[in-house]
Amino acid sequence: MDKVMLVTGGSRGIGAATCLMAAKYGYKVAVNFRSNREAAEAVVTAIEKDGGRAIAVRADVSSEDEVMRLFASVDEHLGPVTALVNNAGIVDQPSKVVDMSAERIGRMMTVNVVGPFLCAREAIKRMGTEHGGQGGVIVNVSSGASNAAGNGGANTYVDYGASKGAIDTFTEGLAREVASEQIRVNAVRPGIIDTEIHASGGQPDKPEKAKSKIPLGRIGQPEDIAEAIMYLTEARFTTGAFLDVDGGV
Ligand code: NAP
Repeated sequence: MDKVMLVTGGSRGIGAATCLMAAKYGYKVAVNFRSNREAAEAVVTAIEKDGGRAIAVRADVSSEDEVMRLFASVDEHLGPVTALVNNAGIVDQPSKVVDMSAERIGRMMTVNVVGPFLCAREAIKRMGTEHGGQGGVIVNVSSGASNAAGNGGANTYVDYGASKGAIDTFTEGLAREVASEQIRVNAVRPGIIDTEIHASGGQPDKPEKAKSKIPLGRIGQPEDIAEAIMYLTEARFTTGAFLDVDGGV
């Protein structure tokens, strides 16, 4: 059976690095993106240049209709997914909770939480042995910001931290729920990684500022997280596991 990986938000950052690494592991790769088609196509071209197979598929993971179309497109062009990486995620401008609009909080939860639920639901229908599948794996991209014992994103994005806390609980629960269907569910919790997400949240210098507090003495790169995602994808007796990849913070 072909190994088919769908990476949500595969066009840039951690998702793009994961797509490229997955192709080297022999996966056919679906590179999902929301708006940056050029970036997604560049990932596809790089995979094809190396002899791999990939497609770019536009879909906003927060839209149920678009998620349905995303999975249908992967079915048609690559075959049913055997690995899902719930990677697409957003941050927002630094803000205290007292100043947050319902629209902002809703968007954060819809993209970062509802999206992964919808994608997992569609993946289970294809992977689950009770649904005629042969098993598979889901890797959720959480964040060190999910740690309620840490600062929870205080003063900047408690909404984001809470959305990732939900992803941790989702991972725990879903792993138990679908284990008998031979679907493994794991999560990676990145520390501060050098991607464009920080600029999109109005903090472009966040990685550089954090560098001195990282025990390994450098800022994390997308490939550092891709490596952990591929480990959790391939580790066949590992489910309900969390991997903190943060340079030792
Ligand atoms: P990034 O560089 O900003 O890339 C985000 C990716 O997600 C892009 O491919 C973007 O697509 C896609 N995306 C955004 N909203 C989407 C939506 N509604 N539907 C589909 N795709 C969507 O982000 P990143 O830093 O790689 O982050 C990836 C994941 O890691 C996120 O879940 C983030 O919370 C988590 N994380 C990141 C860090 C870090 O320091 N970077 C730390 C901890 C956790 P377009 O290209 O089309 O815009």
